[in-house]
Amino acid sequence: MKLQAILFPQVAAAAAAPLGTTPNPLSILANRESESPTIFTCAAVNWPPTSVGGLNVPQVPPPELQSMLAQVDPANIEATILKLVSFGTRHTLSTQNSTTRGIGAARDWIASEFQKYADATDGRLTVDVIGYEQPADGNRILFPVRISDVVATLHGTESPERLYVVSGHYDSRVSDVLDYESDAPGADDDASGVAISLELARIMSQPGYPRPRASIAFVAVAGEEQGLYGAQFLAQTYANATPRANVEGMFTNDIVGASKADDGTVDPYTIRLFGQGLPPLGVEDAAVRERRLTIGGESDTPARNLARLVKEVAENADTGMNVSVVYRLDRYLRGGDHRPFLEAGYPAARFTEPNEDFAHQHQDVRVDPATGKQYGDLPEFCDYDFIARVARVNGAALYSLAQSPGAPRNVRVNATALSNDSTFYWDPPAAGEEAVGSYEVVWRATPAPFWTHVMDVGLVNQVTVDLSKDNVIFGIRAKSPDGMRGAAVLPFPVS
Ligand SMILES: [Zn+2]
Repeated sequence: MKLQAILFPQVAAAAAAPLGTTPNPLSILANRESESPTIFTCAAVNWPPTSVGGLNVPQVPPPELQSMLAQVDPANIEATILKLVSFGTRHTLSTQNSTTRGIGAARDWIASEFQKYADATDGRLTVDVIGYEQPADGNRILFPVRISDVVATLHGTESPERLYVVSGHYDSRVSDVLDYESDAPGADDDASGVAISLELARIMSQPGYPRPRASIAFVAVAGEEQGLYGAQFLAQTYANATPRANVEGMFTNDIVGASKADDGTVDPYTIRLFGQGLPPLGVEDAAVRERRLTIGGESDTPARNLARLVKEVAENADTGMNVSVVYRLDRYLRGGDHRPFLEAGYPAARFTEPNEDFAHQHQDVRVDPATGKQYGDLPEFCDYDFIARVARVNGAALYSLAQSPGAPRNVRVNATALSNDSTFYWDPPAAGEEAVGSYEVVWRATPAPFWTHVMDVGLVNQVTVDLSKDNVIFGIRAKSPDGMRGAAVLPFPVS
């Protein structure tokens, strides 16, 4: 802090007197040694100085959300993981004719759990098992097999057609991806993710809580280890619906079960969130891509702005977690169920534990006779309190997004003449202007990772800000009358 104060006195001043801010939760959540004045910035990106707007600060969860997050129970998560492990293997090619072993039994149990929650509601939660016959693919599918996704949808009140999806995969594997008979406990990968879908569905569907404005789908998919088949089917089902489903955010929780790495590193208060930069070329054509690169918008894709929003609304005392956003699609050599959603043109991101132990993933359950080391994805390596906190991060993100008005559309910046101010135009989100309390212009220095500044501009569709678009990255976002923010959208030049 001393060095920073010498070099950047204005930063030190901001740290001492944040503009009506919530206390930075990081100082109490973890032992991360941060010298930043807010969780969204650092001294190195403190240019240009601005006299307009205020500091962007974390969003405090409303009381009903705090109550939901407090209900997340590590014991329920543990029970779910142990139950899923009890099916022996959940390999996608394993038996679907047993009630006690194999992926069919796991599918039916998950569906019955969701249905139990649905039966306790007033009809706000409905359960579907959807699927298709996947032919042999000459790769990881040896013979035709039914791929089933279990989907519990919490139907929104004001804009039920707007949808947020949270998913885990219930299939599992061992060392040989084609071995569908050996026990494959898959406790971390990915019973942990399925347990989060179940626990959030149980809590968020309770009739004592307000129904969210938009809909939320709590999902367990199959076929991930064989090639993301279940998620691909679900993403395509939404994309091919008439009208096309408006999925404004999708999260996969995959390997969110442990907080200890293979080198002994323990980091139980951090979850990684992987957010892709440039969208797949099939989603964004060459002309749009060219304009994006021209304006320096390569880090402001819908997926990345979704990740930024999660950090703002889910890193707080009620989740007890730091959200470490990683600006890439996924870890090296790995893939996940967010990818088919990105390829379908939906913003999507991946939650994964902060440090992995590769002896506990994709491994035959065995003890190495030479070292005595236990291999395999066993429940004994799970940290249920950690998984509960990851569930709270998801719950905070999903509820905040569903209560927000969604993303404004057709967001543009006037670039028809040289000027040192910036004029923006936009259309209301899909939910319509009546869902919006006010709009906000957010911005940050171009090398900054997160939105540092914000200006509430009221209920308008055009505004001029006395700040040059040449020097910062801008975004436009909508918030609800009760202040729930949606994800920001990068303005493209008016052409
Ligand atoms: Zn996985």
